[in-house]
Amino acid sequence: MNEKGCALVTGASRGIGAATARALAADGWPVGVNYRSDQEGAERVVGEIEAAGGRAFALQADVADRSAADTLFTGLEEHFGPVLVLVNNAGVRADGLSPQMEDDAWDRVLETNLSAAFRTTRRALRTMMRERFGRVVNIASVVGQRANPGQANYAASKAGLVAFTHTVAAEVARRSVTVNAVAPGLIDTELTEGIGDEMLRAIPARRAGTPEEVAACVRFLVSDDASYVNGTTLTVDGGMTA
Ligand code: NAP
Repeated sequence: MNEKGCALVTGASRGIGAATARALAADGWPVGVNYRSDQEGAERVVGEIEAAGGRAFALQADVADRSAADTLFTGLEEHFGPVLVLVNNAGVRADGLSPQMEDDAWDRVLETNLSAAFRTTRRALRTMMRERFGRVVNIASVVGQRANPGQANYAASKAGLVAFTHTVAAEVARRSVTVNAVAPGLIDTELTEGIGDEMLRAIPARRAGTPEEVAACVRFLVSDDASYVNGTTLTVDGGMTA
């Protein structure tokens, strides 16, 4: 790991983002724990990291807001120095069949899951390219690779995130910056409450994954061991897409 920098995890007040913040802190990264509304959750995550001997700081920002990237990066740079690891994790769903889907449901999901990742990545790359080190990990989804009726907006946002990952990786690889995606299947979090049972039958592992099992993949992609892994998508789904 680079001694001079820190990590930012968007949407880290619970679920996969919280587990990722804890995992990166365990590897020695000072971590910015971003949240939108769940301040209590974010502060709990910061407390857990500090209790384990790490460093963390909670940062409020709605990533769908166009000014969020500047707010987040400026706040974190003041605290912990340059952001050399960015995990674009914040994500929402607003399900509905396409013929009935309102513009707002489409826009909200695309803004939060895809456009926000573009803006934070753009902001992060300036520093990473100057420092000749950087790790961007985008949390996609298996839903970006296969049909999931009722989630056209979510699927489009996640497929877009994977395409974005590939192209940006090729743009910045020369500077030792890697940009990868992790595509979880069904993971046991608030986001999937109530939709699990039916999907379990399609999972060879016959169980949902845990946030920690996704965080372990992010931790690997951020580590020095993954220095030659670039522009790829690591699927973590208990065999669902196999
Ligand atoms: P979750 O438990 O619902 O947590 C979502 C997190 O994102 C919360 O910390 C939430 O914070 C934050 N967030 C939401 N909108 C935000 C915004 N506009 N700005 C800043 N933070 C925001 O979800 P999760 O299951 O951990 O999902 C995390 C990521 O994994 C998402 O990108 C999701 O699409 C992806 N994923 C999840 C699964 C799964 O099965 N769970 C599968 C594939 C992919 P606040 O509460 O403060 O808003």
